[in-house]
Amino acid sequence: MEPQNMNTFLLVVGAVAVLSVGVGAGADKTQAPPNPLLAPWTGPHGGVPPFDKVRVEDFRPALEAGMAEQLAEVERIASAGEPATFESTLAAMERSGRTLDRVQTAYGVWSTTMNSPEFQAVEREMAPRLAAFQDQIIQNEKLFHRIAAVYEARDRASLTPEQKRLAWLHHTNFVRAGARLDAPAKKRLSEINQRLAGLFTTFSQNVLADETDYVLMLEGETDLAGLPPSVRDAAAAAADSRGKKGRWAVLNTRSSVEPFLTYSTRRDLREKVWRTFVSRGDNHDAKDNGKIIPEILKLRAERAKLLGYATHAHWRLENSMAKTPERALELMEAVWTPAVARVREEVADMQAIADKEGAGIKIAAWDYRYYAEKVRKAKYDLDENEVKPYLQLETLREGMFWVAGQLFGFRFAPKDGVPVYHPDVRVHEVKDAAGRHVGLWYFDPHARPGKRSGAWMNAYRPQERFDREVTTIVSNNANFVKGRPGEPVLISWTDAQTLFHEFGHALHGLSSNVSYPSLAGTAVVRDYVEFPSQLLEHWLPTPEVLDRFALHHQTRQKLPKELAKRIERAATFNQGFATVEYLASALVDMKVHLAGDRAIDPQALERDTLKALGMPEEIVMRHRMPHFTHVFSSDSYSAGYYSYLWSDTLTADAFEAFTEGQGPYDQAVAKRLTDHVFSIGNTVDPADSYRAFRGREPGIAALMRKRGFPVPAAR
Ligand SMILES: [Zn+2]
Repeated sequence: MEPQNMNTFLLVVGAVAVLSVGVGAGADKTQAPPNPLLAPWTGPHGGVPPFDKVRVEDFRPALEAGMAEQLAEVERIASAGEPATFESTLAAMERSGRTLDRVQTAYGVWSTTMNSPEFQAVEREMAPRLAAFQDQIIQNEKLFHRIAAVYEARDRASLTPEQKRLAWLHHTNFVRAGARLDAPAKKRLSEINQRLAGLFTTFSQNVLADETDYVLMLEGETDLAGLPPSVRDAAAAAADSRGKKGRWAVLNTRSSVEPFLTYSTRRDLREKVWRTFVSRGDNHDAKDNGKIIPEILKLRAERAKLLGYATHAHWRLENSMAKTPERALELMEAVWTPAVARVREEVADMQAIADKEGAGIKIAAWDYRYYAEKVRKAKYDLDENEVKPYLQLETLREGMFWVAGQLFGFRFAPKDGVPVYHPDVRVHEVKDAAGRHVGLWYFDPHARPGKRSGAWMNAYRPQERFDREVTTIVSNNANFVKGRPGEPVLISWTDAQTLFHEFGHALHGLSSNVSYPSLAGTAVVRDYVEFPSQLLEHWLPTPEVLDRFALHHQTRQKLPKELAKRIERAATFNQGFATVEYLASALVDMKVHLAGDRAIDPQALERDTLKALGMPEEIVMRHRMPHFTHVFSSDSYSAGYYSYLWSDTLTADAFEAFTEGQGPYDQAVAKRLTDHVFSIGNTVDPADSYRAFRGREPGIAALMRKRGFPVPAAR
């Protein structure tokens, strides 16, 4: 759906893990107590992460030991006797690095949800060392020759299609990461990767600091003007948790800022909150990211050249579904023009209301959400606050479980006795229709200090079965603001969509039915991975879900049919805004990574790119460069933020397979979806699997219909 849900998505499992047996590993261990992070997981279903035993001081030695163990394993694989076989090379690689995978699962959880100054010090030290470790494996020439030998012989050896795909994947990953370079180039590449890892860490720590440190305290009724009770309660709870009982806090995070901008009648405070939020990482202080960005861009451009690509964008997209930056741009530009035209209409509607009210203003960026809400009421007779009492977090969670039962045959049941890292976290066991254990689902729904903003899914352990049956462990994470103690958490319609979105990622992981962990579940290319998750959002508005699970938190009444109708009618409302704020970020991301290795002033480039695009002045990019963590906290979404739109094209097209059939619960289409999309991980090229599901290539018409834009004539 709208990539307006800033969900990102994390994979902690490393296909290639990494490391440098650094200094100090091995020294002085005689008296040390056993490090709980290194132990095999114990407990039910093949073991669960020992989250109750994690101590920050154990991370460094555990990562060091895990890296050392994997390097030794890799050395054994590289030195095995001739000839190199699939079993002695690739299957052995899949078996290696288990200890480090386990350590990195906990490390990833602490990085994203339990962050603290002590942990940040560990991260700053370990990020470059983990990058160097990864290069050490990629640059192991004996190992690469064996992988290449298996890959080249793949059609002569009797390999399964999945084994051939795995050979292709490992070989491609090694080549793309520089396995064929000469020694000086490899050395430089590794230097670049280590430097980048350090810069990424600093970048995201700076953003987290600006989200944590800037808090606007509201002092009384005049400051609270316009805020509905749920927003006031959340602001009171936020102040309370910061030791300011009896006041109200607007935090500098999306989940706190957006409701304030939507409802506050205090235009001066809206402007203040808006400016603080869009200035994250851009405050000309110690946490400013302005100098980090040009260095990241320069290093990425240099690395792309070293690897033989025109630009970083060309390198990143080579293995994506889009394949080239040009194809990604073509899609973005096809949607950009109608989206901007829609923004003009939206602004005109808003300005008309402001004029009618005698506000005497020209709509500015900090007015958009506020007046959009008024237009929603006027045009569609829809008030978000009318819907919210029907959207209880826990009841909707039951609704997601029900959908998973209808589409995939899954059953969820609470699982007690599994260690968690925070009392907010709950665990469910997932079984299939035949009652067989499928996996575990961890749910960490609430905002708290030290947790990054947004929502995401994480695989603690991917499914596999090449040696033995290993079931998956996945988690969903969000930042829903807690209400008053003892009262149900009520969420917005957009939050409910986010909930279903992340659950779509979880179901992608849980449905996995493959042999090798590197190909399992969500380990697919970036511009395909948002397809299953965005698709699941489409089941939230189905009458089957609303009638059963959108129940008023006090009266238990169903969401009235006519209110559901108004929600449906308003579905394309504000799509100009949502599309433009997202696409502006996606286009800037692509253009900065197509700019090559010239020196870049990020502020100027952002400004010039937006000007050339004709960016409406009433909208700011969803993520400005100084806090664009998708792009600058790792390589993962760099030149890849377009992926949400690419995936949504598939999503819209795929859902029409249901509506062209028996509807959203059409069992035949659901089975094709499981067989060709959700269960196969990365064992099949996504273009082929999509065609197998849909019976044809995807088209853009469904996307345009979904967003309420004119459908272009068929070519
Ligand atoms: Zn997602």
